[in-house]
Amino acid sequence: MVEGIESVVPVTFWLTPGRTLFLSIHFLGLVCFAYIVARRLVPLIRSQRDPRFDRPFARAGNVLKFWLGQWKHPRYRVAGILHILIFAGFILLAARAFSMLIIGVSPNFVMPGFAGESGHLYEAATDYAATVVFLCMIFAIVRRLVFKPARYAVPARYGKAHTADAIFLLVLIAILMVADSLFEGTKAAALAQQGQLAELKTVLSLPWMFKAALASSSIPLLGSLYFGAYLLHEVTFYFLLCYRPFGIQFHVETSLFNIYFAKLDKSTLKPVKWGVSDEQLGEVKSFGVKTFEDFTWKHVLDFYSCADCGRCSDNCPANAVGRPLSPRFLSIKARDYAFQHYPMFGHSGNGQPLVGSIYSPDEIWSCTTCGACEAECPLLLEYIDKIVDLRRGLMDDGNVPQSLQKPLKALESRGNPYGKLEKKRADWANTKEFQEICRVKTLNGKCGAESLYFVDSITSYDDRMQSIGRATATILDHIGEDFGILGAAEKDSGNEVRRFGEETLFTALRDHNADAIRSCGAKRIVTADPHAFNALKHDYKDVPPVEHISQVILRGVKSGKIQFNPAENGNNIYTYHDPCYLGRHNGIYDEPRAVLDAIPGLKRVEMKRSHDRSFCCGGGGLMLFYEPKEDQRMGVKRVQMAAEAGANVIVTACPFCMVNMEDAIKVAGLEGKMTAIDLAELADKQMVRKCPVANAARNAEPQQECVAGG
Ligand code: SF4
Ligand code: SF4
Repeated sequence: MVEGIESVVPVTFWLTPGRTLFLSIHFLGLVCFAYIVARRLVPLIRSQRDPRFDRPFARAGNVLKFWLGQWKHPRYRVAGILHILIFAGFILLAARAFSMLIIGVSPNFVMPGFAGESGHLYEAATDYAATVVFLCMIFAIVRRLVFKPARYAVPARYGKAHTADAIFLLVLIAILMVADSLFEGTKAAALAQQGQLAELKTVLSLPWMFKAALASSSIPLLGSLYFGAYLLHEVTFYFLLCYRPFGIQFHVETSLFNIYFAKLDKSTLKPVKWGVSDEQLGEVKSFGVKTFEDFTWKHVLDFYSCADCGRCSDNCPANAVGRPLSPRFLSIKARDYAFQHYPMFGHSGNGQPLVGSIYSPDEIWSCTTCGACEAECPLLLEYIDKIVDLRRGLMDDGNVPQSLQKPLKALESRGNPYGKLEKKRADWANTKEFQEICRVKTLNGKCGAESLYFVDSITSYDDRMQSIGRATATILDHIGEDFGILGAAEKDSGNEVRRFGEETLFTALRDHNADAIRSCGAKRIVTADPHAFNALKHDYKDVPPVEHISQVILRGVKSGKIQFNPAENGNNIYTYHDPCYLGRHNGIYDEPRAVLDAIPGLKRVEMKRSHDRSFCCGGGGLMLFYEPKEDQRMGVKRVQMAAEAGANVIVTACPFCMVNMEDAIKVAGLEGKMTAIDLAELADKQMVRKCPVANAARNAEPQQECVAGG
């Protein structure tokens, strides 16, 4: 109760006593909110299982980092700072909002620990918090209406703009802050009239301004404003609470849970069905996501949690080149579907197929699984699992793009997408000239080695990429690694097969390779193909640890086994393109760069988009066989980025990137001005060679059973 003005409790409003009025508002507000949330939970309950209740400490750590710490928000400077200020303001104001709810019923309520000096301090802090949140709302409204950041735009094919809804919510929050501040200001003005000056701490805050403006107002007027501000605050508070679950602001309620239950094992793929082992796959009646209810409960929670900020689509290469895919709208369309088919009243759900209604097949096949959307999302939404699940559903229905049918058949029959003979898999190592430099063993029951070089299909069969295979083998030989290959016993790693939704074929490829790897007896695996690296690391079980060749080269440099000659052409400017499956999916960013920096005199620049913001080259694996609708090739955009950075040599560390880069250089008309080279090729070219005689001696007369291709 404030000296000079009545508390809100005894005031009568339209013949209703304050306590009754506010109790009714609380009751109605909470019942409505509970009902709305219960209805929103229905699709989660009807969806598929997803075990996310393990590792509570790791999950709590994520909450501290990504929710409380707002870790990803500053990646977009202005919006990020704005969000952090609003979030911090809300956190600070939470206790005050709770107290305000209670004093409508119990006027002398003080939160435990908020009495006395600490209470004054908290009040001062929250006065500023309300002011900052209010100013942020004004700034955000102006930004939306005047500056209109491009990433908020809604292309016509995705429906109507969400600006009006966003502005409405911003205005509601601004009203809440004004009501809170007016309430505090009238209280302070009344106290000041009693000669109490404690509220002076809040100088330049909104309540301070209201207090100053109302300093000479009569006590009855202050009393009316005090009551009116309180009523406005309560009504706006509950309206917001109940309105948020109908739009993008639902993330205010769901984000904490969404982050707590976020996927912990990055770059793994969810199984076809949780709780169903590979051996039981044959019994699964329907694969993947076909209807909304086929999503897991966590994926439905993702849809509710999307803040529609557009960061994912802003970084999506498919969206950037005009493919019919925008990850943001995968979520928004699914959320709208949930709202429409799980209404507040009446029958829920209709089991309608999603592809053909809210999604198109092209949209689902357009994704390169590059992971840029997931790296960017501040709320840790997952996309790759959902897209792969939707592809599994399409595959299960035989809805496979024409251009993918042949490579998939070839993978099934020959273990590679080109349909080439198994016995030709090691031909790259069998040329006469290469055998004079390096002899590559084929590992089998009779011939073993410490390390297995897993080559994978593109490097084995593509004439141009075989050079990466030879460079990798030469480097391993140079550092004295006892290594060999599987030769004809190797099949495609299946990384893309799995990501294209062909789980049964992937399982067959994986089981075959895993058996061959285990029986060859190698203690570790090396590969120069990030897609194979990813599959071996995350999708295979019980195989030796795997390293990418960039890690091996760097170790060779550090140990002194590899030394580099100075860069040949001092005018060349190099730039490193992070392959998605090496960088974003496996966190290997520094090793390739450290290798480049170890070459004396090599000049290196960074492209604007690098590290975890790298721009996908156009996709590896089966993407080479898929022809999406697009305005421009991703690779062309990427080489243009390299040119903008001032580079004329693009170094990458992935054979698929190499195909796309070399192709894009031609398409972009940069032939003769720009070249692309694989890190292994460059390291091989720059290495200070050992005495050729020593090499020849080591490679002389290999046992017949160890000859590559044998
Ligand atoms: S994984 Fe890459 S291509 Fe696919 S939706 Fe995300 S950003 Fe776009
Ligand atoms: S998925 Fe994440 S990044 Fe994309 S719009 Fe939603 S909240 Fe923003």
